[in-house]
Amino acid sequence: MAGPTAGKLERQQIDTIVGTLDKKMTRSLKQYMDVCVRCAICKDACHQYVATGDMKYLPARRAELVREIYRKYFTKAGEFLPALFEAREPDENLLDELYDATYACTGCRRCMYYCPFSIDTQWVISAAKAILIACGRGNEMLGQLADAALFKGDNAEMFRDSLLDGWRDIETEVRELTGNPSAEIPVDREGADILYVALAGSHSILPAAVIFNEAGASWTLSFFESANYGFFFGDTEKARLIAKRYMDEALRLGVKEVVITECGHAYRVAEMFYEAWSKEKMPFKVRHILEVIDEYIKDGLITVDRGAITERVTYHDPCQIGRNGGIYDQPRDIVAAIARDFVDMTPNREKQWCCGGGGGIVAIEEFNEMRLASGGKKVEQIRATGATVLACPCENCRLQITELNQMHDLGLRVVPVMELVVDAMPLKGRPER
Ligand code: SF4
Ligand code: SF4
Repeated sequence: MAGPTAGKLERQQIDTIVGTLDKKMTRSLKQYMDVCVRCAICKDACHQYVATGDMKYLPARRAELVREIYRKYFTKAGEFLPALFEAREPDENLLDELYDATYACTGCRRCMYYCPFSIDTQWVISAAKAILIACGRGNEMLGQLADAALFKGDNAEMFRDSLLDGWRDIETEVRELTGNPSAEIPVDREGADILYVALAGSHSILPAAVIFNEAGASWTLSFFESANYGFFFGDTEKARLIAKRYMDEALRLGVKEVVITECGHAYRVAEMFYEAWSKEKMPFKVRHILEVIDEYIKDGLITVDRGAITERVTYHDPCQIGRNGGIYDQPRDIVAAIARDFVDMTPNREKQWCCGGGGGIVAIEEFNEMRLASGGKKVEQIRATGATVLACPCENCRLQITELNQMHDLGLRVVPVMELVVDAMPLKGRPER
């Protein structure tokens, strides 16, 4: 039978938790700790709470776990009258609850948009992840993937030849498709305007290479991938080191801008977090590939056949690109330029429902059932459009929506936006439509 000390943490562990929270205690976090009025408006904004009705997924409840620690160690009232002020000494149970609340959160920040005080639960979650990692309770799979990325970056030379071989094959395809024997995938090109940071796999490189070559862009492909499991894991230092590889490469090559592929979290890491993490101002700008493609179409640098895509197309705003990245118009302008029948989802833009696949959750098996259930709102939205093509510029969202598509028999083709753009380009190597 469990004794009175069962579940208690050692003093040293408690000190670690309090010290970690103290390091994370910015003015904003303190405000999020102090101002929640428990109106529960956020409950209807969270796709996970809506799908499950489980209190542990209610945004305010997730943050409340951190608040309980905060009140106990950062407020006089909580220190002296813990029961009255709902302050709590962390124990095994609290850490278990915190793990579920934290690693399940997709970081979509839809709750923040609806909260009357704009409480950023995802920000609180990032403090919670730091606490879990400091206690050795970070998610194992995300931690392993982050370490694997660091290993791959540290041993780039080991992978160099096989990467180059793969890229030469893709280059051959680009030449065939464009009918241009000089089309290329440049690597390590000093003085190029653009460093393009892709994901592993031809789907992230081939369409971009076609577009850059057709636009006559001065570009070079990064040796490093944009995916950043250090960010999902919640370890800021690992996330910084993973991004530092391509940032250092951009500095070495002297590019004017870093362009991130169709990947939500990678765009946010590069554009919104890296300079703060590294305490260094980069001498180049960072853009998402869709911002660049939109510019190429509008400036006439690439030609697309207007209305070339004849199926009904809808667009999914990935949370890290739309609500959290502020990119709403460019993808819509691109899709509207090439699709004869574009139908937006309702609601959209900042009110778009999270598909349920962000924040690294697709890599965490224990959340699979909840993750797929949490896509219910997205399924309703997609079905209401009657679309047969879903354009989506984020790999994690595409993985999730592809699974939802199979589960719910939506009859969708789930594609990256740049793939649709290439489909709409009149390319010499492809027979005329
Ligand atoms: S909507 Fe904001 S204030 Fe209301 S319970 Fe949720 S987090 Fe707290
Ligand atoms: S950020 Fe998204 S998943 Fe996380 S609590 Fe808020 S609405 Fe739910």
